[in-house]
Amino acid sequence: MPALGYVVENHWLGQVLLERLQQPDAARIDYLCPAEVAEIRPGSERMAVTLSRDGRVSHIGADLVVMADGGRSELRERLGIGYHYQTYDQHALIANVSPDRPHRGIAWERFTDQGPMALLPLGDQQGRHRCGLVWTVPDEAIDALMTVDDARFLQQLQQRFGYRAGRFVGVGERHAYPLKLVLAEEQVRPGLVVLGNAAHALHPIAGQGYNLALRGLVALADHLIEARRRTRPLGDLGVLQAYHDWMRRDQQRTIGFSDRTMKLFPVPIRCRRWGVIWGFSCWISAPRPKPSLPAAPWGSTVLRRSCVQDRPETSNARKECRSGRFRCRHRWRRPGRHHSRRNLECRSLMPTW
Ligand SMILES: Cc1cc2nc3c(=O)[nH]c(=O)nc-3n(C[C@H](O)[C@H](O)[C@H](O)COP(=O)(O)OP(=O)(O)OC[C@H]3O[C@@H](n4cnc5c(N)ncnc54)[C@H](O)[C@@H]3O)c2cc1C
Repeated sequence: MPALGYVVENHWLGQVLLERLQQPDAARIDYLCPAEVAEIRPGSERMAVTLSRDGRVSHIGADLVVMADGGRSELRERLGIGYHYQTYDQHALIANVSPDRPHRGIAWERFTDQGPMALLPLGDQQGRHRCGLVWTVPDEAIDALMTVDDARFLQQLQQRFGYRAGRFVGVGERHAYPLKLVLAEEQVRPGLVVLGNAAHALHPIAGQGYNLALRGLVALADHLIEARRRTRPLGDLGVLQAYHDWMRRDQQRTIGFSDRTMKLFPVPIRCRRWGVIWGFSCWISAPRPKPSLPAAPWGSTVLRRSCVQDRPETSNARKECRSGRFRCRHRWRRPGRHHSRRNLECRSLMPTW
């Protein structure tokens, strides 16, 4: 296998899509931006969408509304669509960092006792090498890392990541996102589809969220084309339900995979490493309509795994994995030793389906 996946920077994707919208054959598409969707309301025949643009309010009627307003979807709340929620007690710290040597197109993911860290190759800028850093940090440590000065930040990063990618000499603006699993209880209603993070926001450990959303989009387009061919209304619940049924298994697998991989981290290092390797192998070899592992976690060219340090285990105590209401228990046989095989079978992963 030449690579587990490839990195595509998001702004390139955006640019390509915008350029496509400017082609003559896309003239029927009205591109309204910037604009905010203030309200979506089911009407007697069509969906009513209220838009706000530059302080001006306008209304649109639509046979079908695809709602993709992100994981914190306010529109989802306003429509009363419930969701399952599970926190990972972690934040992702995102920043661009400059190593002192070229990255050679290699992406790294390091599985540490606090969670994974990813370093993704980006294009050089102003003569400086650039990588995208995604650093998983426990909630209680994020404020300190966000506020520490750049020099101290780089020092801590170096300590945590090691020197495989060189010495870190610069860091850009830092951003932090709380990590959680969100799954909408309803993803289709007559005239409405909930898509992307608004439907399912997952832990970024396996870099699957955006890819899952794109697969959903393609599946939806296929179902709508077929509906149009059969002269069925686009907002017909049967059509939309068929789309959702088609995607359900992919969503289950992708969410389960990300969540399970994440939960391998509280276990000691040897189990964790093999668990992760096993997970990726299963993912790749699994027979299914290939929703391709899009990129090595976070989209990377080559995935290399290494661990920084082992987790200091305390006692023979029971530990609970971090699944919130879906509990399971891990028992360490002896301090510092790995799980028994049985206890690796954590059933805490999926919300009710
Ligand atoms: C640290 C991190 C790394 C990740 N890496 C990867 C990766 O490598 N590969 C991968 O596949 N996925 C990755 N993901 C997941 C990926 O970022 C998300 O799955 C993806 O952004 C979801 O896209 P979305 O359009 O559904 O939501 P969002 O990206 O959240 O976009 C929602 C948009 O809707 C807009 N909006 C909100 N409300 C309104 C409104 N009322 N009216 C109009 N617009 C509105 C918002 O401004 C926003 O622009 C990562 C996530 C994180 C946190």
